[in-house]
Amino acid sequence: MLDSDLRLRFDRFDHSRRSDPAWVAERWNSPGGQIMSVGAGPSVNVGRDQPDGDHWLIGGLAVLGGVDRSDSDEVRLAGQPSRRSSYDAQRHLLLGGVGDVTWFCDLSVARPGLDLRLAVPLLPAAEAAVAMTAVALTNWHRAEPYCPGCGGPSQIRQAGAARWCQGCQQDLFPRTDPAVIVAVTDDRDRLLLAHNRLWEQARYSLVAGFVEAGETLEEAVQREIAEEVKVQVDRIRYVASQPWPMPRSLMLGFAAHAIGTRLTPDEGEIGDARWFRRDQIPGAIEDGSLRLPGPASIAFRLIRAWIEGLL
Ligand SMILES: [Zn+2]
Repeated sequence: MLDSDLRLRFDRFDHSRRSDPAWVAERWNSPGGQIMSVGAGPSVNVGRDQPDGDHWLIGGLAVLGGVDRSDSDEVRLAGQPSRRSSYDAQRHLLLGGVGDVTWFCDLSVARPGLDLRLAVPLLPAAEAAVAMTAVALTNWHRAEPYCPGCGGPSQIRQAGAARWCQGCQQDLFPRTDPAVIVAVTDDRDRLLLAHNRLWEQARYSLVAGFVEAGETLEEAVQREIAEEVKVQVDRIRYVASQPWPMPRSLMLGFAAHAIGTRLTPDEGEIGDARWFRRDQIPGAIEDGSLRLPGPASIAFRLIRAWIEGLL
């Protein structure tokens, strides 16, 4: 419902193609081969279709609509033709295909660009998926070059989708940390928003947290809400997910119903927690008393879905 367009036109290429060096080399040398990189932040280079070489010239974000589309229609992921250099399997990661373009990422380059959180909502959905994948894979290869089993060095395989430990004779794959994020509503159809003490003033979002070892997702939902605001929930329902490679999370979005309405925020973590009616949110944003998470986040999309009556 929320993510129907996100992955439609991004081809991740299957295992048989990734593992075929001749096929990968042919993509690298094709006219559509493009190479990008991931900078600190993480950030990615974006540009407009205009060939002026000017990157990340991005206009303002609309308050609730997410993105001013009139200003972002031409924003694209910026790369360079891959065939200008020679392919190095220990450095160049195959990301996937969008139409005629095959995207690679250069692990050895970290050119600064636009913060991923700002880039994702501006890019076409398929290129946003390319950027997310580039960041996730780059984070993994940069952070974990050694085998967790024996501590020895490992080599990139499958064009970047895996690593191989010679000592253990074992493939290594990137790990993902699951986290739940929950749109909690009460019997009066109000939405729970909480302010974390670490956040900027007036910033509120949904309750969220990492899944702990041995937990089901439903248990994680119940525990997080109980910990943060001491409310019990039922009718827990999965809604949508989103990769959040900062550095390696997968956000699992849920809706849940609060059994009670009395909120007792955890004093250490939560500065404030409140129930919001739909009609309160635009005014609160307008007068500066409420700032929502950025439009790239699943938090924002869940909140927007609730405002639109889609949850
Ligand atoms: Zn090993």
